[in-house]
Amino acid sequence: MFHHQPLSGQTALITGASRGIGAAIAAELAAAGATVVVNYAHSETAAAALVTSIAAAGGKAWSLKANVANEEEVEAMVKQILERENRIDILINNAGITKDGLLMRMKTADWQSVIDLNLTGVFLCSRAVSRAMLKARSGRIINITSVVALMGNPGQANYSAAKAGVIGLTRSTAAEFASRGVTVNAVAPGFIATDMTKELESEAILRSIPLGRMGSTKEVAGVVRFLAADPAASYITGQVLQVDGGMVMR
Ligand code: NAP
Repeated sequence: MFHHQPLSGQTALITGASRGIGAAIAAELAAAGATVVVNYAHSETAAAALVTSIAAAGGKAWSLKANVANEEEVEAMVKQILERENRIDILINNAGITKDGLLMRMKTADWQSVIDLNLTGVFLCSRAVSRAMLKARSGRIINITSVVALMGNPGQANYSAAKAGVIGLTRSTAAEFASRGVTVNAVAPGFIATDMTKELESEAILRSIPLGRMGSTKEVAGVVRFLAADPAASYITGQVLQVDGGMVMR
């Protein structure tokens, strides 16, 4: 049988990979041959179970705890990966949280914690891997943003601002790293069935999606795999790829 392993020999760090979209991305990149580092902040058991299931499927993975909103923890995480694997080829900035509430009543702490993880965390991880990627003159950074960055959403001023910030960060980083062969792109999911959205599924939401259903984590992971692949996506940089069932057409 012919097993095509386009990412074999590469190391991929996926932040927030213990559950949801991140876990699906980790499984997908491992199936494509990458050695996958499963980052998590709290869900140690889930991260360990994912590592075990990837290994059982013939893939390579290990888990690493770090709060990606914390500069010291991010630096230590990347140092540990470079010591163990000698390389980081792919960074998927996926870790994210919501703290929803109407702006008028939004607590400053709920604004700040969402900005700290969803935006500053992307900056911290991108900066931490940049030296290794620029030196290697190759690399892929894929940032998970959201369609709400493009359309706004009542109750998500903090989240949509952070995710819109990620798009600006993606484009500027892409412009800075392009001459060294490192591409930087964003994926903007619509409504994907995960813990984050489990209370959201409703008739109104489904009506706003032309394809008429929530997306699956696999449908996001497949696009990330494409953006990580060579030569499939090696000429794509600074782009935002929507995976939203047609919610936002522009
Ligand atoms: P999820 O199921 O709630 O999972 C979130 C992941 O982030 C978990 O693995 C969690 O790990 C991790 N995480 C949380 N705080 C962290 C921290 N401080 N440091 C490191 N990791 C941390 O969320 P999801 O739905 O898969 O979302 C994944 C990404 O896609 C997020 O960036 C989200 O904004 C984006 N997105 C999701 C949707 C959707 O419809 N679901 C749509 C658009 C965009 P622990 O449990 O260990 O904390």
